[in-house]
Amino acid sequence: MNKQTQLDAIQQDILDQNICPELAESATQLVFGDGNPEAKLVFIGEAPGKNEDKTGKPFVGAAGKFLNEMLDTIGLKREDVYITNIVKYRPPDNRDPLPVEKSAFMPFLESQLEVIKPKLTITLGRHSLNCFLPDLKIGEVHGQIQQFNGRMYLPLFHPAAALYNGGLRQTLLDDFALIPALLKKTTVT
Ligand code: URA
Repeated sequence: MNKQTQLDAIQQDILDQNICPELAESATQLVFGDGNPEAKLVFIGEAPGKNEDKTGKPFVGAAGKFLNEMLDTIGLKREDVYITNIVKYRPPDNRDPLPVEKSAFMPFLESQLEVIKPKLTITLGRHSLNCFLPDLKIGEVHGQIQQFNGRMYLPLFHPAAALYNGGLRQTLLDDFALIPALLKKTTVT
């Protein structure tokens, strides 16, 4: 089975198992993930927002536009990477995802990563970071590679945070600039 077929099966499992039925009910559709299943780089955000809910694709609103710009600065396009979220339905009124919602979707996110096997997993924002590495603080570890359970993580601030806090914009761009060298040297054991 190729990687896309395996990802499609995970997506179908979420629907078949009726994960987070209240969220599924209030959302327009499942936002599973987008991009290249063969990517070396996977980006993981928090949960879909309004535009993502409408289109069924992650990071297509203002935060997504900034993500695309940052990818451009390191010579990558969305088709080169894979982008997903922890929670795959839009929470009502864009509230923070609840711990129980994050836990419900984690096994599916783990399966996505097992299929794609990226060299580098980039967490966007504190929710995403803390789902994998609960004791770390984004303000302290952003831009610093973290190795855990045979995976390499690069924690970054969430692109939406840079839209509200202009000071974070340059920090995110600086952290992004580390990615090409990390991709060259990281080996996953
Ligand atoms: N913010 C996220 O965390 N994910 C999206 O898909 C869009 C905005």
